[in-house]
Parts: sequence; structure tokens; C-alpha cells
Amino acid sequence: MAGRRRFEIPEGWVARGWQFEVEPTTPGQRSLIDQHFGARRVAHNWVLAQVKANLDARMADPTVPPLRWRLYDLRRAWNQAKQEVAPWWRECSKEAYSSGIADVVAALHAWSDAKDGRRAGRRVGFPRFKARHRDRGRVRFTTGAMRLEPDRRHLVLPVIGSLRSKENTRRLLRLVTKGRARVLSMTLSEHGGRLFVSVATIVAHTPRTPSEPEACCGIDLGIGRDWAVIAHADDTIQRVAHPAPWAQTQKQRRRVARQLSRRTIGSRGHRQARTKLAALDRRAANLRKHQVHTLTTALARRYGTVVVEDLDIAAMGRGMGRRAFRRGVSQAGIGAVRPTLAYKCSWAGGRLVVADRWFASSKTHHGCGGYRVDLQLSARAWVCPGCGQMVDRNANAALNLRDWTGPMSAAAPAAAAGMSSVGVVDAPVPFVGDHGGQAHALAWACKALEDHREVAGADDTRTEPLVARNLEQGYQSDDNCRCSLIW
Ligand SMILES: [Zn+2]
Repeated sequence: MAGRRRFEIPEGWVARGWQFEVEPTTPGQRSLIDQHFGARRVAHNWVLAQVKANLDARMADPTVPPLRWRLYDLRRAWNQAKQEVAPWWRECSKEAYSSGIADVVAALHAWSDAKDGRRAGRRVGFPRFKARHRDRGRVRFTTGAMRLEPDRRHLVLPVIGSLRSKENTRRLLRLVTKGRARVLSMTLSEHGGRLFVSVATIVAHTPRTPSEPEACCGIDLGIGRDWAVIAHADDTIQRVAHPAPWAQTQKQRRRVARQLSRRTIGSRGHRQARTKLAALDRRAANLRKHQVHTLTTALARRYGTVVVEDLDIAAMGRGMGRRAFRRGVSQAGIGAVRPTLAYKCSWAGGRLVVADRWFASSKTHHGCGGYRVDLQLSARAWVCPGCGQMVDRNANAALNLRDWTGPMSAAAPAAAAGMSSVGVVDAPVPFVGDHGGQAHALAWACKALEDHREVAGADDTRTEPLVARNLEQGYQSDDNCRCSLIW
């Protein structure tokens, strides 16, 4: 299968995403936006149906020529058929259809790469048809009249027009105006009834040095009372608790979830409770996100070396059961810390070290090297068999990580490389002659990549090694919904 065209980040630039919550500025705009979401789904489903029909035909008769999974080819097929399939196609931006088709192509490649063992991480199912109740409405614009307005409050998307941002766009706008940022795409999406515009950019990177370039710190993440325990270079131990409002939100969440379960599905009360629950979830997630960012920024700017544990988040999930896992690991944002540190450390000029997964950081006494074999998972403190001292479990683990000298885990190079100054970003490459606005991809930065296996993005949370899988032949849709991991 031919490799997908990917946008290669030029030397000295880094990929960076921005998200703004927006609201419509004109009365008819909201329905126009929904129409675009629907248009994307129609193109997505139509192309997927073509691909499926082709695969079925080829299974019955191998002489049937394969349909090439390329955005260019599939988009041309759509353009030939759209008058029949969607006579209303003129009402939406062509980007709506294009983004749906691009997503099918990406999903098909992810599926076939996973099937043949070319893709690390979990197994990927065959793409599914999108339905309104199952698909988060979204549409991505890569070309056309999209821009940030100089008033720092509005974003303009093709056909949809101006949207008011609830947040000031100053930081991004300044970079764009100075030519230090280029907009690659803008994605309008809906989440919990709210609209967001995600702006994918590349930003000119300024080399920095952390304030203590020679110093080292270790972080032990947990789901108990302490969310994170940090061993600083000067031997101080910093304990970071879960944010108090977050704990409060969790309490309210329990009550509202109970209410929801008692109400009749489809009733007004049920709908109200669901909205309330979604609001609480959003608040909890935002509080957590804020905490992850403040902690990681502070550490990345200060230390030359940050050491974290190589947590097998997926295995933790398997060991704990779904509910406990959601409440503990997912909601504590533990999985988000390492990838966030990976790119922040590299931006700040430091490095992230991932200690080997099998390093017994909790069981070894930092002071004397005494080793406690039978340490219970619930034990907060233990007595060292070597010197008889009381040892605080988390603080001890953090100190051990800080002074880590052993082998780094297999995941370390990818995580430590993080967002290097050169890499690729999974953004579709705009076609030559298809440009109309601010979003011109630099011609010299476009390159088709045959092989994208080495890509380790900043959000690379993969903890499983690359294993060749021997999955069953043929294709089928994957019914194991993985969304449950992200509550
Ligand atoms: Zn000891």
C-alpha cells in the first residue's frame, strides 16, 4: 500500500496545536455548521461503502482491481458521484467532504498497518460507518479563507464564516503576524454541545535552556492521596495532591450519575441529568488538564533532566477493572504526564528519561539499597530490612527515580525524542493549486513519506512494543469500543 502523504515539519519548527471554544455569530450559522458535520459523514460513509464493496468483490473474485486508498483517488471518485449521492453538495464547503474522505483513508491505513504488525499499540478495527448519535461532529479545513481576525476574538472559516472565540487569540495571532507560526488546518468540532476550533500550526522554535541544566528530578505518579511526588535536586520532596475542586466535582458526579440512572431514558429529566453530568465531567477534565500542564511546565523549565517511571497504563487498566481504572488512572491524568513532559522537555532544552518498567523503584530503599520483597501495594510506608528505618513509599520511589542510572525502557527513545525539531505531523498535505488562504503549506516542506513508522509525536502514549500480530484474515468492524477508556 502506498504511503500516505504527510506534512513534514521543517527544521527548526515544531508542531503545535491550539484550541479555542467558539460560538456562532449569526443566527443561521449553527445549522450551517451541523450541515457541514453531516456532509462530512455522508462523504465518509459513501467512500467507506465503496471500499467495503471493493474488498467484498475482491474476496469473491481476486481479479477485481483493488481500489486505491488514496485521498486523491477517492476524492475524485466522490466528485464524480456527488451529484447523484448528494445533490445538495454545493451548500457545504468542499473541505467538509474532503475531511471525511481523508479520515477514512487514515482509518483504513491504521487498520491495515495494525493488522500487518506495522503499527505499534493496540489493535485497530476496520473503520465504521458514522451515525449522528455516534460520531462527534467535526470538519477540518486545510485550505480556503481561514484566518484569525486582528480583533483577537474571531476566527474565520470558509463558507461557515466568522466565529467568536471565547478566549483571546492573542498568543497565536502574534506568532502568525510575525511569521513565526503557520496555520496548517483548522478543525471545527462539537463536544458536549459546545463548539471548538482546533488550530494545527507549526511554530518556529527558539532553543532554550532550563534554569538548572545540570540538575535532575524524579516524579512518582500515583492514584492514592498524593497525585505526584517529586524528588527535587536539592533533596526536597514535593507532594502534589489532587486538586481540591476536582475531588469536590467527583463527589457531585456520583450524586448526579445516580440521579441519571434512576430516570427514564428519553425523558426530559434524563436529558437534564445527562447535561449536568457532562458539565461535571468537563469541569473535572479541565481541572486535571490544568494541573498536568502547570506541573510539567514548571519541571521542564527548571530541570535539565526529568525522570519518570515507564507506567504500563494499559496493563494497569487490565489489572484494575474498568470502573476502578476510570476513577483512578484515567481521571488522574497519569497517562498524560509523560507525553506532555516529552515535548515540553524538548522545547525547554532538557531531556526526559523514562526509567525501565521493571525497576523496583518502590521496593528499594534509597538510603541504603535495602530491598523489601513482600511490599504490599497498599502500604504507604515500610520498614527497611537493611537499616530498619521507616521508609515513605512515594517519596522513596521519587528519589530512586531521580538518581536513576540503569537502562532506559524501550519506550524511552520515542518518548525522550518527543517532539523533536524535525518530524512529521499527521495533517493532510494540501494539493498544489488548491490553496486560497493563509494555510499554504510550504512547498519545500511537503514530502510524501513512504514509511511513517518512526514517527513519535508529542502525544505518543504508546506503551506497548511493536509486535507483529497474526490477526484473522479479511476485515470486520471492531465492536470493542475503546472510548470507554477516556470516560
Ligand atoms: Zn535502608
